[in-house]
Amino acid sequence: MLHRADIQRLARVSPGTFAVLATDPDHTILAASADYLRTTHTDESIVGRPLFEVFPDNPSVDDPAGSRLLRASLARVIATGQPDRMPLVRHDVPRPASEGGGFEERHWSPWNIPVFAEDGRIDYILHRVEESTGQSSRSAVEILESITEGFFTLDRQWRFGYVNAEAHRILGVAPGALAERVIWEAYPGLEHTPFWRSYHQTMASRTKSSFTAHYAEQARWYEVTVFPAPEGIAVYFRNVTEHKLLETQREALADLSELLGNAREPGQAGYVGAVVLGTTLHASRVGYGTVDHDSGMLFVDRDWVRPGVESLSGVTPLLAYGTFMDTLRRGESMAIPDVREDPRTADAAAALEEKHVRSFVNVPVLEQGRLVALLFVNDDKVHAWTPDEVRFIQEAAARTRTAVERGTAEAVLRASEDRYRRLNEALSEADRMKDQFLATLAHELRNPLAPIRNALKIQALAANDPGTIARMRELMERQVVQMVRLIDDLLDLSRLSRGLVELRPERISLAPVVELALEASRPAIEQASHELSLQLPDEDLFVTADRVRLVQVVTNLLNNAAKFTPAGGQLGIRVERSGDRALLRVSDNGIGIRADMIDRIFNMFEQVDRSNAKVSGGLGIGLTLVRQLVQAQGGSVHAESAGLGTGSAFVVSLPLAPAAAEAGEPQAADGRRTDAPARRRILIADDNADAASSLAMFLEMAGHQARIATDGAQALALFDELQPDVALLDIAMPVVDGLAAARALRSRPAGRRLLLLALSGFGQDADRQRSADAGFDAHLVKPVDLARLQAIIDAHPRAG
Ligand code: ADP
Repeated sequence: MLHRADIQRLARVSPGTFAVLATDPDHTILAASADYLRTTHTDESIVGRPLFEVFPDNPSVDDPAGSRLLRASLARVIATGQPDRMPLVRHDVPRPASEGGGFEERHWSPWNIPVFAEDGRIDYILHRVEESTGQSSRSAVEILESITEGFFTLDRQWRFGYVNAEAHRILGVAPGALAERVIWEAYPGLEHTPFWRSYHQTMASRTKSSFTAHYAEQARWYEVTVFPAPEGIAVYFRNVTEHKLLETQREALADLSELLGNAREPGQAGYVGAVVLGTTLHASRVGYGTVDHDSGMLFVDRDWVRPGVESLSGVTPLLAYGTFMDTLRRGESMAIPDVREDPRTADAAAALEEKHVRSFVNVPVLEQGRLVALLFVNDDKVHAWTPDEVRFIQEAAARTRTAVERGTAEAVLRASEDRYRRLNEALSEADRMKDQFLATLAHELRNPLAPIRNALKIQALAANDPGTIARMRELMERQVVQMVRLIDDLLDLSRLSRGLVELRPERISLAPVVELALEASRPAIEQASHELSLQLPDEDLFVTADRVRLVQVVTNLLNNAAKFTPAGGQLGIRVERSGDRALLRVSDNGIGIRADMIDRIFNMFEQVDRSNAKVSGGLGIGLTLVRQLVQAQGGSVHAESAGLGTGSAFVVSLPLAPAAAEAGEPQAADGRRTDAPARRRILIADDNADAASSLAMFLEMAGHQARIATDGAQALALFDELQPDVALLDIAMPVVDGLAAARALRSRPAGRRLLLLALSGFGQDADRQRSADAGFDAHLVKPVDLARLQAIIDAHPRAG
């Protein structure tokens, strides 16, 4: 065992920078090398004095950890008997008074080594510092203190050694607070994270590693580089949370733009915006909806919600959730970190929290100063929204809004394009049909002319052959009837298409309607040698309809049946009651109708097969007339056919008229005849002698008595003499025209119940109106349809 004086003598001559310390609590300095004395600005007077009295902490340093760390290291040496290498540590030394006093900044990397006595106890501790207080270390420490990265060292026991000022700042701890602490204890959340793995790896492999990782407990991102160091590892790190979030937000906005570009519907764009924001911000609910500026009602198509959070899709009254409407109406965004604390929401905090809203951001969308939409981000936790987050939400709201607007505009455009396309198709279809129709019309009108011209020639040649002349006359008559029918149909259609058909509904029985129609169609049916079966109900079925028009409907259907059925076919008419409707069914076993045409044949100019020579003689407007006439009388009509070759049926359905008593109409008006047509006295006035006499002849043949006047004045004179039931007056007559004559007749007592019929070459509505105004019951266009004339006369009650 060396005496203290010996130790000091030894130390004085030994190279190196060291002191020998006692193990007592004061760590009395037993000896010091010449280098040690020089470098600490001391002399041998320090020998025998307590170490920490000689080297107290610099009181002007914030956290003078130097003496504390040194004390701990010495304690460890005593406790473990192991040498203890300390991390780089600042421990300033007093400056001699001659040099101005105070302290001089110094950094040390001490190594404390136990020196054992023979009995195994620790005799002294060798405290070596020479290698660590050189100029290079000092500047290294200066560098470490000045860098903008956090820096710390960990020893092999994972204890913090040197921790620079920036590290303290980043981690938010007081300088020195981490000294000596084991990192896993100070930050338990690090275990088994990338931090943990990387520190272990470098500690074991002595190779550098670097990574960027999220530290959940602080909700931060760190960028870290780990180096092997003599005492363990050295760690450089930077808080890159902001940068990282901005990057995520930038990426999110890029994603958003792309997704919005693909969103077709306006509602979809709102949802896309919500999804991107929700997932990026880790919020609990995000939605984009329209707002009613005045009522503060929010309409959301579809919002994004974290699983377990209730959706706000639908209508939400914003006013019920705080007094923030005015802020939104001004176009100001709102970021509420905690609804309980904010005065704007404090009153509604309970209601908000019930909807899982503890914090939120609302970004309003204004249009011409009015609030039109709102993007809301809700969180069910307190959330201190950063300006970056709010800016991000605003940017997302702006992009979503643009997409929604574009979506709406596109939807409108698509709709109008659709409409335009449909209209265009309809127009070209109508145009095509019209062209076809004109071709057909020309054909159909020319068709009868050829035989008529031929017949005229033949008549001239065969003047002496009564048989040929009669046949030719019949031929011409048939052709004229055909032409007249075509032209009548055309005129009717032109009025129908303008919605100007005058109907004269009355309470009528269906049986006579069928009879009259059969009468009119008989020539066509007989010519084709069809058989016809007629089924009428036992009861009279009454409907309220225009008799003449209804006869026209049934005649049309019967003519079609005859026309579209090969010769010798079976036609049928059945009238029956079905609930409160009367059904009138015209059937045939003819060519039938393809399923795809069943409805189309009712369209104007529609014909299944124009080229079919057998069925020529139509313009494709008959069924259009039928349907329009039936519908105008409150009924409906449809076609039935099992397909080509299976025949067809056309069913007219009309509402039954109320019982006669209820209707309060005279029974006579039903027009049903039980006896043969009555003989009527008929006055005919026409300045065209041929027309007048042929008409008179026809009426005489039908069993009536007819007299002719050649102008209006004569007609009036004849009236008094004849006291007719019916007067047929040509409108365009000399002296007194038909209209004036009619007015005069109506003004006489005997003229009131007269059936007054106008004859005219003109059939426009204005012409018909003038006739009606003058007192005519009906307006007949020349050439007069004799069957129709007869039907009208028969239906009129006798004057008496
Ligand atoms: P048109 O008889 O002048 O051709 P319509 O409007 O009366 O015009 O009929 C339209 C089309 O409906 C006819 O061309 C025909 O193809 C079809 N059609 C009408 N009635 C029948 C029927 N009884 N059997 C088969 N096809 C019919």
